[in-house]
Amino acid sequence: MEVARKIEKVRNLVKIARSEERKIGLVPTMGALHTGHISLIEAAVKDCDFVIVSIFVNPTQFGPGEDFEKYPRPLQADLKVCQEAGVDVVFAPSSKQIYPTENITWVTVEKLTESLCGKSRPVHFRGVTTVCAKLFNIVAPDAAYFGQKDAQQAIVIKRMVADLNMPLEIVICPTVREPNGLAVSSRNQYLTAKQKKDAANIYKSLQACRKLIEAGITETRQIIDEMQKILRQIPSGQIEYVSIVDAETLESLDEISGKVLAAVAVKVGPARLIDNILVDAGK
Ligand code: AMP
Repeated sequence: MEVARKIEKVRNLVKIARSEERKIGLVPTMGALHTGHISLIEAAVKDCDFVIVSIFVNPTQFGPGEDFEKYPRPLQADLKVCQEAGVDVVFAPSSKQIYPTENITWVTVEKLTESLCGKSRPVHFRGVTTVCAKLFNIVAPDAAYFGQKDAQQAIVIKRMVADLNMPLEIVICPTVREPNGLAVSSRNQYLTAKQKKDAANIYKSLQACRKLIEAGITETRQIIDEMQKILRQIPSGQIEYVSIVDAETLESLDEISGKVLAAVAVKVGPARLIDNILVDAGK
């Protein structure tokens, strides 16, 4: 496995792989790799002949007062994970490599970034789309792998790729969970054992949502009330949003119909946790 710190090196490695007609897969991450990231890497290794994992804690997707400084950066452990998973190249650039001068060119996806996480994190998605556009330009992968855990991010990236005619496929992989249902996240490290246990209520609220929709309840307000009851059982929890939206447009719905995304953001102690499920309510 090669470790590239510089854009030039990763480009050269990709050039060789491409000359050998290998299918190139990219898994963009911020590191602190866990079983969720590993599932993406495994999907890429299965589908592709040359797999690049990028590890970059992207400053432009963090707002003021968020956890950019304290975000975990265990590079050596991450390299071991990648090596064991069969990755060909880890691209771990410095901020200077990615943002050599003041960044004044941004990729912005409208509408889809206004709801859910976009409300409380106004610069977040602009940072995500810009860094992903940069990574796609640097690596030029045939496919890039993202997690359903960050559902809005996945939809926004797909739309950016479609709207800008970027020549790659976006593959979305299912959310990996702890045995108690809590979605695996690098930010779970900020939680105490008790908070981790309590945070299982996030997935419980989503499961309750699924049950109610399957039982034929169509009034969104009624379902959200039930979900909030469950989320209030997290003693150190502060609910940021509980939303049921159209799974394609991310617009909120008064009445459930078609494919919907139920999404939750809760601050549990120091960690802002998000999770979601997709439910097909039929017509
Ligand atoms: P991050 O390092 O948090 O930026 O995540 C990198 C990629 O891993 C993103 O596409 C995430 O959606 C994905 N990811 C994070 N956690 C999970 C999880 N529990 N299951 C599946 N994918 C995940």
